[in-house]
Amino acid sequence: MPLKIKLRLLTIVLCIVIVVLCIEAYNAIQEDIYDKGPKAQSPEGDNIVIILSGPSYEPGTGTEPEMTQKPMETQKPVGSKKPVSTKPDRTQIPNEEKPNDLNDIAILVNKTNELPSDFVPLNLVKPDVPFVSGAKNNLMRKEAADALERMFDDARKAGFSLYALSGYRRYDNQKQIFNKNIAKYGSIEAANMYSAKPGQSEHQTGLAMDITSAGVKFKLTEAFGDTPEGKWVAANAHRYGFILRYPKGKEQITGYAYEPWHIRFLGEELAARVYHSGLTYEEYLDKAAGNFND
Ligand SMILES: [Zn+2]
Repeated sequence: MPLKIKLRLLTIVLCIVIVVLCIEAYNAIQEDIYDKGPKAQSPEGDNIVIILSGPSYEPGTGTEPEMTQKPMETQKPVGSKKPVSTKPDRTQIPNEEKPNDLNDIAILVNKTNELPSDFVPLNLVKPDVPFVSGAKNNLMRKEAADALERMFDDARKAGFSLYALSGYRRYDNQKQIFNKNIAKYGSIEAANMYSAKPGQSEHQTGLAMDITSAGVKFKLTEAFGDTPEGKWVAANAHRYGFILRYPKGKEQITGYAYEPWHIRFLGEELAARVYHSGLTYEEYLDKAAGNFND
């Protein structure tokens, strides 16, 4: 065999040996990493453990890999009084996560759907309409205030002078009103027929307004429904996005006495649909949920 060919064969054999050695070395490194298992978890793995152990867990520096192998119970930080739970702690979820629900124009607020005591609606403004003198709660959500202005303008052009009396009420304010009504009507049940418990009032949404007229001496009374102004409101409010929220004969459903003075903004489209259905808002929502595919 010529020397040239011998050298070539030797080079090929050497190359093969080098390649085999490299593969062996690579496998050895891989096995070493694998053996470390959970101890070598990435920071993402640590994060997962932190989420599962709940917000009460104070994450460490990440230099304690053995923690990831311990059962959940042992991860409770020393000194923590909170019970360890896998459930997320609701109180720790920031309010920003739910603004659209509570500020939704279509929100249902009644005796079973309460607003939190600290809820204050967005964009409160004073509508540019005549108010009964001394009216203190004169704010509304901007959308509702704009619609109220259009409604009062058109009513006036048609010969009906409306006056606003009470719009947005703070939770604490509603509490005072309710307590006064307990004294006035003699029991919580009776007071609750004529006024809402705090958190259960539509006035806290900034989407409701109590309106009245000179014909009933600017009071909030059932007689308003029989005045020309009250009749005009009942027939036209939906065209501006309002409904009469507590109609006559529906006390068992709404939970409140007939209130021809209390209008609630839902936006023109929804208000028109509720008005033409002849239903209370509770009934309308129930029916809409049942006939979702219609
Ligand atoms: Zn009202």
